[in-house]
Amino acid sequence: MPATQISKHSSAVEAFLNEGPQRLFIGGGWMPSGKGQTFQTLDPGAGSVLSTVFDAGSEDVDLAVQTARQAFRNSGWPQMTHNARGVYLHRLADLVEKNKTTLAEIESLDVGKPLPQATWDIENFSATLRYYTDLAVHVQYKTPIAVSKHEARVVRHPYGVCGFIFPWNFPFLLVGWGISPALAAGNTVVIKPAEDTPLSTLFLTKLVKEAGIPDGVVNVVTGLGTTAGEALATHPGLSRMSFTGSPEVGRLVAESCGRNLIPVKLELGGKGAAVIFNDIDVEKTVDVLCGAVTLNTGQVCCTATRWLVHESIYDQFVEQTRSRMAAVQIGYWNDPQTQMGPVVSQKQKDRVLGYLQKAQQQGAEAVVPGGEAEVPGKPAGFYVKPAVLAGSPDNVAAREEIFGPVPYILKFNAEEEAIELVNRSTYGLANSVWSQDLDRANRVAESLVAGNGWINAHNVFVHGVPYGGVNLSGLGGGVLGPDTLFDYLRSQSIVRPL
Ligand code: NAD
Repeated sequence: MPATQISKHSSAVEAFLNEGPQRLFIGGGWMPSGKGQTFQTLDPGAGSVLSTVFDAGSEDVDLAVQTARQAFRNSGWPQMTHNARGVYLHRLADLVEKNKTTLAEIESLDVGKPLPQATWDIENFSATLRYYTDLAVHVQYKTPIAVSKHEARVVRHPYGVCGFIFPWNFPFLLVGWGISPALAAGNTVVIKPAEDTPLSTLFLTKLVKEAGIPDGVVNVVTGLGTTAGEALATHPGLSRMSFTGSPEVGRLVAESCGRNLIPVKLELGGKGAAVIFNDIDVEKTVDVLCGAVTLNTGQVCCTATRWLVHESIYDQFVEQTRSRMAAVQIGYWNDPQTQMGPVVSQKQKDRVLGYLQKAQQQGAEAVVPGGEAEVPGKPAGFYVKPAVLAGSPDNVAAREEIFGPVPYILKFNAEEEAIELVNRSTYGLANSVWSQDLDRANRVAESLVAGNGWINAHNVFVHGVPYGGVNLSGLGGGVLGPDTLFDYLRSQSIVRPL
């Protein structure tokens, strides 16, 4: 691997990191946690401490929820016209764009992702915020219902306080997907970012303040999952809850919300498949799928981790994959040569390496063996090489979410066999079908049990196209679609007998 001369992060980022311990943002002000405890956030590319962050306890979370409730009642935010609220939200989108470089560097440092990928995430946040802000101006909040002998209508109102718990793989982008429809609809929010990657969300609080969004509309409580996360998920003062993360924790969050009768949205894990027929361009398809599975070092919920390849092109496909994966440049986030950064933590590195071991113990063929990677000058970073496995569909690596750059290749002959193999999964997030025969591609795509299907592409996100999972991959309506705005509005019917 060439040792490229790389630059450090900017002085603006350095100044932000030195502000630590980073404080909670409640009611428009920054404050330490009640108990004064902190935790550290690391640079996964170097294995070193980036900053310290206050660790919220249940009393801090309670304060944030109560403050957000007060803001819902008293700040005027829910009563504003959609145009007036839109001015604040577009101003926030402008500020995110103005601070794009700083935010992208913070995101790269905290997650380990290459700078161009982090930059895309930041741009996506603004695009999401603008999409829902503009949509909120144009939709109907009062819909007449045609029934005989009655005058009837449905009216839509914001709910109140919406809680959000986010994972570490796309911290800033997912905050945008989550809070944009909630804010555009007139709700107030309390955000709990992942403890591994809280920094970009904390920087956002500065921009929320600068945009002039009324105090208490946006609140951020940093902390651990089992303390701050649980305190938020179990809080009876919420009106809605949204959780993005693992199915195991999603179940706990849903249980708490069930007890409190609070509606919940769950965006969970996946084990996405790509079904590859024999009429495609092998080199091009291998290139796209290797790019997809190494994007964000494979820590992408919807990525293609099961590659079902038609038996007539199987050997050629495997050979191309071997050479394409060998060329992936692993490195630090600000090295322009880097295509794939580290995984987010030592825990995640152990998880990926552990799966490689278990898979081979169960008889998987290591088409590309993977393993630890070394990056010059960064001996303590959490780097792994891409791996490619093949073999039985019953292998643990063919069934469970690894959350690393590890596709599992399976061979198929008939279309029905491919559909059956894909639908064996307990997950149901996203799959893709690859074929020149669009009738077949559409037919197979519609037969796969999942929230999302793509044809001749993978990892496609368009504002206005709903994205979400079924089965172990989630429930509650998903994100990114126009209906998501309505998920953040409660309906009320008003009827007058004539
Ligand atoms: P995780 O479930 O461990 O943690 C997610 C969040 O939950 C973190 O903020 C964590 O602090 C918090 N948390 C942990 N325990 C909690 C508890 N008991 N109560 C309340 N909150 C708690 O997941 P992760 O490791 O951060 O993220 C990886 C998972 O997220 C993968 O399964 C991935 O597929 C999934 N994911 C899904 C989507 C999607 O859109 N469907 C997007 C990104 C990630």
